[in-house]
Amino acid sequence: MEWMISYQNRNVFLYCPLCSAKALKAHKKHAFYCPECGLVFYLNVAAAVVALVVDGQGRLVVTVRGQKPKQGMLDLPGGFVDPGESAEAALRREVREELGVEVGEMTYFGSAPNRYLYKGVHYATEDLAFVCQVPDLSGMQAGDDVRELLLVKPEEIDLNKFAFESVRGFLLKFLEH
Ligand SMILES: [Zn+2]
Repeated sequence: MEWMISYQNRNVFLYCPLCSAKALKAHKKHAFYCPECGLVFYLNVAAAVVALVVDGQGRLVVTVRGQKPKQGMLDLPGGFVDPGESAEAALRREVREELGVEVGEMTYFGSAPNRYLYKGVHYATEDLAFVCQVPDLSGMQAGDDVRELLLVKPEEIDLNKFAFESVRGFLLKFLEH
């Protein structure tokens, strides 16, 4: 899985972060190894959360990405889990930041791996999707890194406009039900 640590066929990390030797090598699936000092530095899979929020008329809350990567493409509310945070707490925080509303009950929906290219580095994520009840969507307002919020009828969802493979998969499964 060299894609995580190489970009356009060059290694993006050359120097050991511990001893500074220009000696880093790819190690196993998701780590670097420094033969000078023996450091093994892992790029572990990052947990991320995705919210499926439906309004009273059956429309799905869709976000327009305001920042790279995939700026301007469609996404669902969500983001990376912070260190020490549960997936549920991360989802409540992200929905609060991006939509300005509070999540009530949530039900685990499924997981999918994703690749997230940011500034030349590919990050491997595991995206955890939840169906979220939001009792009051009336005050919904785009915040944080969201440019715009859309309410989309299920039959009008165009999967090709969504930024990430994992989200397209969640939507496909969600729309089947
Ligand atoms: Zn080293």
